Amino acid sequence: MAERPDLVHFALGDITVQRIVESEEPFLTLPQLFAEAPPEAIERHRHWLERWALCPETGKVILPVQSYLVRTGRHTILIDSCVGNDKSVEWHPPWHQRRDRTWTDKLAAAGVQPEDIDYVLCTHLHADHCGWNTTLRDGRWVPTFPNARYVMAKREYEHSQREAKPIFTENVLPIVAAGQAVLVDMDHALDDEVWLEPTPGHTPGHVAVRLASGGARAVMCGDIMHSPIQCVYPEWAFVSDQDPERARKTRRKFLESECESGDLVLTAHFPSPSMGHIVAKEDAFRFRYI
Ligand SMILES: [Zn+2]
Repeated sequence: MAERPDLVHFALGDITVQRIVESEEPFLTLPQLFAEAPPEAIERHRHWLERWALCPETGKVILPVQSYLVRTGRHTILIDSCVGNDKSVEWHPPWHQRRDRTWTDKLAAAGVQPEDIDYVLCTHLHADHCGWNTTLRDGRWVPTFPNARYVMAKREYEHSQREAKPIFTENVLPIVAAGQAVLVDMDHALDDEVWLEPTPGHTPGHVAVRLASGGARAVMCGDIMHSPIQCVYPEWAFVSDQDPERARKTRRKFLESECESGDLVLTAHFPSPSMGHIVAKEDAFRFRYI
């Protein structure tokens, strides 16, 4: 597959933002991810989706798994923490019991040691967003970042606790046991540069992360959307949207507000470079990569 230029890091006022990509691979096909997507609509947009967003050989959506490393004057912050190693993700074999140092090597190459992280912000508690929260050491799950406070929405925590999947016992509970979890409201502000915004639907406690500095603004949108095709069709529900109707409303509202504001959107799962702006087109939107 041809390489798309990858932005290493950039400044947003006094904040720097850097992607830390764990993987970027064909995931599942469009009909597998968007059950209600009409085949003719997929065909109509195939020409621009291929090769960056849709693998022509496999027909699968190309989906990066990544974190955003945010350095403000005060804090070193990770937004989301990918799949991680040794995790139980049986529904998706490439994520199951991974043994891969790509992500930790990239973090080190960015000049960040695990003890340097002050905050880990979790947009939501799915397998591909909170994996490096913990590391398996001598048969025990321990926080990967010994000095970090792990910020998660209380509502998301309670949802994950009710689901009681391995994600909770492997990625969340050890953080609580270590006294490093901070359960917050969905509009919690770290300070005037970094705050959460409630964006429920994909999961009940899903949040976006807003960044602002020196008049520049950006938002990490988590799993509000998974492919640039959802800018064209905001009504397409993603297979794992917990509450599809709520997710649709959140997605449309988010696209409208970002189109209006022109803020930079940092996506979790759009193909590299993953960042761009929402623009209006016809009665919907497009994603204009930076
Ligand atoms: Zn995700």
